[in-house]
Amino acid sequence: MSEATNCVFCKIIDGQIPSQKVYEDEDFIVIKDINPVAPVHLLAIYKKHVPTVGDLSIEDSKNMWRLFEIVKKITKEEGIESYRIVQNNGRDAGQEVDHIHFHIIAGRKLGHLG
Ligand code: 5GP
Ligand code: ZN
Repeated sequence: MSEATNCVFCKIIDGQIPSQKVYEDEDFIVIKDINPVAPVHLLAIYKKHVPTVGDLSIEDSKNMWRLFEIVKKITKEEGIESYRIVQNNGRDAGQEVDHIHFHIIAGRKLGHLG
């Protein structure tokens, strides 16, 4: 399902790079971030290699709503009441990995946006 040869997240999805997986289904994988900015820092990665929101097809966009169901499930299971979802597009926004993903950050008082 993932196809970009030099993409770190495609390699994680394919199992070529190890990760700490907390959830997986046919469209998303959720792993622990290797460099956490808070006690809880998860990455919900869309399995298909799509670089940014601007590259999503209509079919991909329709899959995105399920992210919220996944976040609801994980945060409920972990007893997480406050959390932030972050999704970066482009270098100036802080995107380092060009494969669409959503950060789920929690476990401490977070500063304001930006
Ligand atoms: P971005 O800056 O693109 O929004 O977020 C990329 C995130 O991926 C960063 O928080 C970074 O720590 C994380 N990351 C990069 N390489 C790896 C890796 O090999 N494994 C894991 N678990 N996270 C990674
Ligand atoms: Zn990829």
